[in-house]
Amino acid sequence: MTNADKALQLLMEGNGRFVSGSARGPNRTITRARDVSRAQSPFAAVLGCSDSRESMDIIFDCGIGDLFVVRIAGNVVSDMVMGSLEFSVLKLGVSLIMVMGHTNCGAVQAAMDSGEVPGHMGSLMKEIEPCVNLCRRNPDITPDEVSRENVKNSVTRLRSAGPILEEKCMDGSLLIVGGIHDLYSGTVDLLIQ
Ligand SMILES: [Zn+2]
Repeated sequence: MTNADKALQLLMEGNGRFVSGSARGPNRTITRARDVSRAQSPFAAVLGCSDSRESMDIIFDCGIGDLFVVRIAGNVVSDMVMGSLEFSVLKLGVSLIMVMGHTNCGAVQAAMDSGEVPGHMGSLMKEIEPCVNLCRRNPDITPDEVSRENVKNSVTRLRSAGPILEEKCMDGSLLIVGGIHDLYSGTVDLLIQ
């Protein structure tokens, strides 16, 4: 089993504990905070939505120093997001990146509603738009289905992001997967492995 496989197993086991009500809340003491205060070695990176219900440490039953988390509305990939994830891989030795979308995503819904958006929100919507357009060919598409397409799109972009992430994926030292978090059940289902 590779490090990435082990990391994925840890994430899914943590989510299983959270969903079943048997979360342990590990690594959340001041002792742990002090232990990792000088150096960190998170076992996975997660790109998730800024949504107030997407608290990664809770959903995956992790604690301080366990996860490198990048959160942005709609879990889209921008240059800044890519740079942050590259940092986690190159400098912190992360071997697994999970892109995680979720049900009832307000950012995805806003992109589907179209029309003009104020301020800087337009650049965010533009990132989700390709998925919305793709899905518009199917008039019965639901926002949750668009969220899944959006996750797949982010995974594809990261996997082909040269030179760092693409190369690491090719040589087998990095795994990038996609998942969707159901806000009601708490379950994270893998979409792309
Ligand atoms: Zn969201």
